[in-house]
Amino acid sequence: MLRVAIDGPGGTGKSTIAKAIGAKFGLEYIDTGAMYRSMALKAVRTGVSPSDETAVAAMLEETSIDFRDGRMYLDGEDVGGLIRTNEISMAASDISKLPCVRAKADELSKHLAATRNVVMEGRDITTVVIPDAEVKIFMTASPEIRAQRRYDQLIEAGKSADYDQIFEEIQKRDYQDSHRALNPLRQAEDAELLDTSYLTREEVVDAISTIITAKTGVIAAR
Ligand code: C5P
Repeated sequence: MLRVAIDGPGGTGKSTIAKAIGAKFGLEYIDTGAMYRSMALKAVRTGVSPSDETAVAAMLEETSIDFRDGRMYLDGEDVGGLIRTNEISMAASDISKLPCVRAKADELSKHLAATRNVVMEGRDITTVVIPDAEVKIFMTASPEIRAQRRYDQLIEAGKSADYDQIFEEIQKRDYQDSHRALNPLRQAEDAELLDTSYLTREEVVDAISTIITAKTGVIAAR
């Protein structure tokens, strides 16, 4: 069993790095943020307020989420292209405070981690979803650098972006994600801290590969 758990705030490059680690070590990549984002998308689409717990719980009774082959499905629809907007980022952070929402994402995440070798990333993977993961990493980067990366991603995807607004939202989301009552973002005591502010993508992948091999003896397949 090889389970690599990666946590950290938004914009640290967790998704890109986790995908690369998955390809290198033959692990299935699981993006748990996409689960919160798709539940937020459904709330926005159906006009349910993320602060109305009763309405969200009723909505979730009628909602299916699944993550297969690197794709996020909401009620059977591939929503990967719809959930990476600023609006959905904030709505996901708002809705992820609710116990019913966390329970739904946790159930799917835990099931996936129990049935295959995974590299899974999010906010509470090392602390709650797979606390006994073979490898645990906490990725950070300065808020300015994370805002710049998010800005570059959006521009590259052909979307409009405003750096100051992104910077503000990143700070707000960091605060919300690390101060909520239930499963807040925090570094697990036994997670390796990796500050990616001044590292290239390749340097981060190399650093994590070295940690994986040192901890488990597993060598990259390619
Ligand atoms: O990682 P990503 O930016 O896609 O996550 C979107 C939001 O989902 C986060 O801001 C956080 O509020 C929530 N989330 C969470 N727990 C996770 C993954 C994401 O609360 N494991």
